[in-house]
Parts: sequence; structure tokens; C-alpha cells
Amino acid sequence: MPTKDDTEALMRAADYLPKFDTVEDERLHRKQRLAAAYRLFGRFGFDEGIAGHIPARAPELLDHFWVNPFGMNFSHIRVSDLILVNDKGDVVEGDYGVNTAAFVIHSQVHAARPDVVAAAHAHSIYGKSWSALGKMLDPITQDVCAFYEDHALFDDYTGVVLDLEEGKRLAHALGANKAVILRNHGLLTVGHSVDEAAWWFITMERSCQAQLLAEAAGDPVPIDPDMAKLTASQVGSHAGGYLSFQPLYEKIVRDQPELLE
Ligand SMILES: [Zn+2]
Repeated sequence: MPTKDDTEALMRAADYLPKFDTVEDERLHRKQRLAAAYRLFGRFGFDEGIAGHIPARAPELLDHFWVNPFGMNFSHIRVSDLILVNDKGDVVEGDYGVNTAAFVIHSQVHAARPDVVAAAHAHSIYGKSWSALGKMLDPITQDVCAFYEDHALFDDYTGVVLDLEEGKRLAHALGANKAVILRNHGLLTVGHSVDEAAWWFITMERSCQAQLLAEAAGDPVPIDPDMAKLTASQVGSHAGGYLSFQPLYEKIVRDQPELLE
């Protein structure tokens, strides 16, 4: 748990991410965060059969990424189960296969966005329900303001993404944003850390749920554009996304310590 001073320093610092003495330490840290993110996605019920992936760029091989073994339940993934995939889609470390859609989408997102360390995509129920409307999220709650003027809509659907050109179009739609709604499909988020990408996905899914609930009950009152912009700067920063993930990480590691094996 961070102290009060730690937390204030973390929120102020441009370099809020942990520092490592060796690339081995950084790799292990990233893989631990990744395994924990999968466990959390499992706990939140974001899995749907074989769909979904949270790839994380390898710290020393920037065109390679660590990802979940194809077909393994998110709730069972341990650090030692993660596989390393190269820029051709070959598994170069690990004993399992890779989901082709994961490679196609994320190789293109990682190529288009050098700042991105991790991305998250799953067929979660509220995200895919909202995506069917073909609309952006409105600033109707404090939390969703993290996405104010910082998410996009991929307003097309052409089947399962198995073609590199389609992956490129998707990355183009994402642009410089932290998230994209894939019409008739679901959500995709990115971050400067695994923590941040996973947190944006979790809170975006809940924001889709909140807008669906609010619109089912009546006419939600939108937050004024100036206030939405201010709130975005307060809740939508890279450090804010990273920090928001930490309580979830501590909880899942305490409940399921074997994920670190
Ligand atoms: Zn998908």
C-alpha cells in the first residue's frame, strides 16, 4: 500500500512508473501485472469462450508481445503460462498457441502506437451491447470523463479480424486515443502500462453499463463540456489509470497468489 506522501508524489510525477535495475526484473514485473489483469478479467466475467486478449510489449524486444495462451481460461493464467509472440505471429517462448486475431489486431496497434505498452480487448457484455449502437460514450458520470475526447468509434464490421489490413484500419481508428469502440464487437483500450490498459478497459465496460442503465431509466443529464474536460484531466491521466489498478492488483494477488507462479 502506498503512503499518503507516496500517493501525492505518484500523481504529480511524470515518471510514476516503477524503475528496474535489469530488463529481467522489468520483464517479470510486466508479466506479473499481465497475469493479474487476466485473472481480474476472469473475475469480472469478461471472458467469452476463446475471445479476448491483453498483449504487453516485451521490454527488450519492442516488436514482440506477451499474451495469453490460446484457449486457456483467463481465471487459470499464471505468469509461467504467458507466451511470447514475435512480429510474424510466431510463438517464440512458451508451449501454447496464439489467437490469430490477437496477433493481427495487436501487432498493428503496437506498430502504430510506439507509446503503448499494453492493450486490452474482450467481448464483455456491456461493452459489446453498447458497441452495437454505433455511438460514442457521453460524459454523463465522473468516471466516464476519463474517455472524454479520448476515445474513438471503429464504425465498421467485417467479421473476425484475421487480416493485417483490417488490423491496420482498426489501429488507424484508435488514433492517439486511449480507447476505441469496435462497432458490433466490443471495446479495446491501450495504456503506457499493463495496469493502465487493464484499468481503462474495466472502467470503460462499467461506463457502458452505466449509460445503458441511465438511458433505460430516463434522459441522463450530460456534464458541461468545460467540466467534462477538467474532469478528464483529473481522472483520465496515465498516472491516474495506473494508480486506479493498484487496489485491484493487491486484491487479486492476495486472493489468488498462485497467479505469480
Ligand atoms: Zn474480439
